[in-house]
Amino acid sequence: MTDTGTTTETGTTTVPVLDDGDHDRFAHYVVQDDLVRSKATGEPVRALCGKIWTPDRDPKRYPVCPTCKEIAARWQTRGSN
Ligand SMILES: [Zn+2]
Repeated sequence: MTDTGTTTETGTTTVPVLDDGDHDRFAHYVVQDDLVRSKATGEPVRALCGKIWTPDRDPKRYPVCPTCKEIAARWQTRGSN
């Protein structure tokens, strides 16, 4: 496995994307499929934490959004919920 993202039990892959839309510079997690679509169509993406923005840059040196991180961890550990 060379995937750099986070793969959930459902097979959904999330990837960190820099939010460059405001002063809170975090790398938010978005569903990879959404990111691919966003790059193709220019549509905004929706982060796990609910933030919606149009990414135009890769995450660098930014901390992961704590809310996204928590949700991503929850997805990974989700059992029969
Ligand atoms: Zn977030």
